[in-house]
Amino acid sequence: MNKEKPIRVLVIDDDKFMLEFVSHLLRELGVSEVLVAEDGKAGLFVLSAQVAAIDLLICDIEMPGMDGVEFLRNIADQYYSGRIVLFSGVDPDLLKATERLATARGLNVIGTLVKPVTIDSLATILKHLADPVPRLVDAERMRQIFAVEEIKQALIADQIDLFYQPKVAVSSGRVTSVECLARWRHAQYGYVSPDNFIPVIEQSGLINDFTRTVLRKSAQQLDLWLQQGFDLKVSVNVSMENLDRFNLPEIYEAAVRECNVPIDRVTLEITESKLGKDFAQTLDILTRIRLKGFGLAIDDFGTGYSSMETLKHMPFTELKVDRIFAHGAAEDPAARAILESSIKLGKVFGLNVVVEGVEMEADYALAVDLGCDEIQGFLIAKPMPASEFIGWLSDYEKTNNRRLQ
Ligand code: C2E
Ligand code: MG
Ligand code: MG
Repeated sequence: MNKEKPIRVLVIDDDKFMLEFVSHLLRELGVSEVLVAEDGKAGLFVLSAQVAAIDLLICDIEMPGMDGVEFLRNIADQYYSGRIVLFSGVDPDLLKATERLATARGLNVIGTLVKPVTIDSLATILKHLADPVPRLVDAERMRQIFAVEEIKQALIADQIDLFYQPKVAVSSGRVTSVECLARWRHAQYGYVSPDNFIPVIEQSGLINDFTRTVLRKSAQQLDLWLQQGFDLKVSVNVSMENLDRFNLPEIYEAAVRECNVPIDRVTLEITESKLGKDFAQTLDILTRIRLKGFGLAIDDFGTGYSSMETLKHMPFTELKVDRIFAHGAAEDPAARAILESSIKLGKVFGLNVVVEGVEMEADYALAVDLGCDEIQGFLIAKPMPASEFIGWLSDYEKTNNRRLQ
């Protein structure tokens, strides 16, 4: 824990004994200021009345009146950006579901505690307070902050950079491909994540220019790597908002051909939940994208609704299982079951199956056991600028070669 900076913790629980007990343990562990609230409403009041920020919120999810889920919805709406720990005596699955819900709302949940709370479990949580807070500002707030005009200027001023995240082939342990991920190099906020500006681009008619820019940059980078002798492929995310234009395959093809890279080294990733509503039109465009030679991946698989039907009919070459199913799957039977059936399904359709979002060794081993083809995730590497990639790759290959010897 950071000893210099005082830490403010707010504990919310309807059980008075629990409030006192947890407050006592927190003070024992060196927390300088502990605030308490007996239900969600009181918690909201404390949060809104505070002049200085609360660093950590420890919140019971089972409370009369406003329960934890409702409380979390409210603080997400108010852009609470501190860290959160959820605790409860209820079924661990319910605790996990609440955690997922909070994370999906953009809240920063750093852990869960099952009652009875112990001093050791609290100490572990407090250690995480020293980790840097992610720089990224809440998505909704960003959307309000960033006007279309500002993003237009960013495109003109070439402030969109690409970061690259490797995918490793399970069979060889080698890096075969990289996913190109957009970042906005913002003068005030530093690197802004795509979730915070792509929706604005999609809604404002700028998406075609944006996609062309990203494709061209990815192809230029691939060209450089190929010239340097690196046997790599790239994956580029393509927004579905523009799947209403029949000439998209030509637009994409032109962007890649300009750089002279073989089209079959470029895979376009399409997010499952955003697959076009007009089936015939989507099928027409995707089929022609494949005819041009691009690979075609269904991204974030498992998060949409049309999975089976879509997989059966659309000409995909790759399936990327969404990271929510990989993360912690080795310890979570429900996530494991979804991961396993998604991999099986992908294999039945003859697709290259990628598991993304792998952060832990146990999840990596599980994904390998379940028969996936490629793995992507922070355990291997976080997305990085091109300038760092080759250095990272040679270190990775050295370690990998030692492992294989
Ligand atoms: P995606 O295509 O599913 O990309 C993977 C996202 O998961 C990336 O987030 C990556 O940083 C993150 N990720 C990878 N491994 C891990 C892990 O082990 N743990 C965790 N927690 N996260 C991991 P990023 O870069 O913020 O991108 C978010 C989404 O934005 C992408 O999801 C993609 O849908 C979209 N996106 C990114 N670049 C572009 C683009 O150029 N065009 C379009 N249309 N969408 C883009
Ligand atoms: Mg992707
Ligand atoms: Mg994905």
